[in-house]
Amino acid sequence: MCQRAIYPGSFDPVTYGHIDIIKRAQEIFSELIVAVAHNPQKEPLFTVKERIDMLTKATRDLKEIVIDDFDGLVVDYARKKKINVIIRGVRMISDFEYEFQMALTNRKLSPDIETIFLMPQESYSYLSSRLLKETASLGADLSCFVPAFVEKALKKKLARKP
Ligand code: ADP
Repeated sequence: MCQRAIYPGSFDPVTYGHIDIIKRAQEIFSELIVAVAHNPQKEPLFTVKERIDMLTKATRDLKEIVIDDFDGLVVDYARKKKINVIIRGVRMISDFEYEFQMALTNRKLSPDIETIFLMPQESYSYLSSRLLKETASLGADLSCFVPAFVEKALKKKLARKP
């Protein structure tokens, strides 16, 4: 097994859904780069460094995982890293249209790069960082969605938000 892959995303913040996909990809690929997109247009709650630190902590027991960040097109980043597999997670049907469009756009830009979709465990299939931020701001218990240190960071960050 010598194939390497990239799992790009905002990870704002990392959830058990992301970790589930990382573990599945890690079983298939010899090296996985989890790449945090800067994505300023999405106005992330956490800085790139905070997102990287949380991912590093959440994956510290996993082998052959590299956490990195990138700005710009994921296909350019993949080419720079000499990797031709992009991993994405699909949850509900609602993800499908957007993910399909993005995968086909990336294929048009870079025909040699393949996107592979992985499905999470059912119990995470409705979990998103966006919904998590909304429920956190309403004071919900998030222990079944994110590691305790992420919940703490999330609540601290939201408490500081005007
Ligand atoms: P992006 O802004 O690139 O969509 P996200 O961090 O929201 O960044 O998601 C990164 C990838 O992880 C996407 O492919 C998304 O579908 C997938 N993903 C996010 N949450 C889950 C989850 N709960 N289960 C499976 N895949 C997920």
